[in-house]
Amino acid sequence: SPVLAARGIRKSYGRGTARFDALDGVSLEVYAGQSIAIVGKSGSGKSTLMHLLALLDSPDAGEVMVGDTDAKELSVKQVNRMRNEDFGFVFQQFFLNPNATVLDNVVLPLTIAGVAAGERKARGMAALQQLELDDKAKNMAVNLSGGQKQRVVIARALVNNPKVIFADEPTGNLDTMTGALVEDILFSLNKDKGITLVIVTHDPELAARCDRQIFIRDGREVGSLDNAGAAA
Ligand code: ADP
Ligand code: ADP
Repeated sequence: SPVLAARGIRKSYGRGTARFDALDGVSLEVYAGQSIAIVGKSGSGKSTLMHLLALLDSPDAGEVMVGDTDAKELSVKQVNRMRNEDFGFVFQQFFLNPNATVLDNVVLPLTIAGVAAGERKARGMAALQQLELDDKAKNMAVNLSGGQKQRVVIARALVNNPKVIFADEPTGNLDTMTGALVEDILFSLNKDKGITLVIVTHDPELAARCDRQIFIRDGREVGSLDNAGAAA
């Protein structure tokens, strides 16, 4: 069964006559170990769909399923634990604290989870090593290049050994070569560690590297593609 699923979800924004459906009856299943791209033009509802799957927001109608559980049945505490420990997040805008060190940024999910300082440091450094950034641990995040920042973000996403990484336009702020490197890292995490990838993108080449593509237009699914032999 899928690790995550959306069933007929609807999400509206605005009030009164300005109210409109950002998502209007979208269904989607994400299987363990899969890489899935949510593809569409700007404003089509991709990020809204990702936010709902990641339990960052709730739908107005329909269900978000986490395994066999309807997300509505989860307590606030369970949702917070899942977001922090089962999910990793990689956003176009990085969302790093520029005036904290690289290591402090990476261990933030562990700090939130109440992990002790010694273990935080060990796990943070291990995550930084995987991204070949351990020599930058004490640098302030503000001083890094864009590609380094996104690798710090990926290290932060990895520090809790997540089951799923959600990536919203992960290469949107990077030049082509740096973006390709970040993509390679994400797909190697998927292939080597079995981390499920949910990627929001309007980049057809990035989308084509995923096992499955879901096309969204005006809040509805308009098609999907299974990429036979999709490879990193
Ligand atoms: P995409 O990720 O495909 O660019 P979004 O899911 O971000 O699309 O947005 C879908 C639509 O919903 C857009 O018209 C956007 O302006 C609107 N929208 C997104 N988030 C909000 C919000 N918090 N409040 C009001 N409108 C929103
Ligand atoms: P059909 O099999 O009837 O052509 P699809 O499910 O393949 O339907 O696609 C339906 C819609 O999804 C297309 O009209 C298009 O808008 C979108 N779509 C499908 N494949 C692609 C693609 N490779 N790139 C962009 N959009 C696509």
